[in-house]
Amino acid sequence: MIEMICEMCGRNVTFCKKVTIEGVVLGVCSECAKFGIESKKEPPKEVAGPRPVIAQRLEVREKRGRPRDVLEKVEKEDLVEDYASRIRGARERAGMTQKELAMKINERVTILSKIESAQMRPDEKIIGKLQRELGIVLKEIVPEVVTSKETPRASLTLADLIKMKNS
Ligand SMILES: [Zn+2]
Repeated sequence: MIEMICEMCGRNVTFCKKVTIEGVVLGVCSECAKFGIESKKEPPKEVAGPRPVIAQRLEVREKRGRPRDVLEKVEKEDLVEDYASRIRGARERAGMTQKELAMKINERVTILSKIESAQMRPDEKIIGKLQRELGIVLKEIVPEVVTSKETPRASLTLADLIKMKNS
């Protein structure tokens, strides 16, 4: 069975009717088709003069595409993978014991011990103190691909656009 999505309300339907709503041809469900003019052969004529806001917004939306999965590449500053060995290594090079380092950064030894054995990720405050005290870098820019499911709520339907226009 072919699943289609009504371009107005976003519902999954088995059949989409082609209708013209404010000069835009949309595939909509039978419910939403009531709002438009059924278009059979005639393609919508170019709207002369300033184009309706809705048509412009829909055009932008079409250009962006409507993928079900939104792949987003974001750059994020994150704690390095080998933070534990970097901290331990730098501390040992500096000739400090865990207790001495813990005192210098004003944290408990148990916390530092957990961090150095990778049982605990240091928070932003501790990262900052360790970087300053040991002269090391514990953060890096990591490009990561985030996949987020696009929900019907997240994407604007024509109904939303009409609401936006009228408000
Ligand atoms: Zn619909």
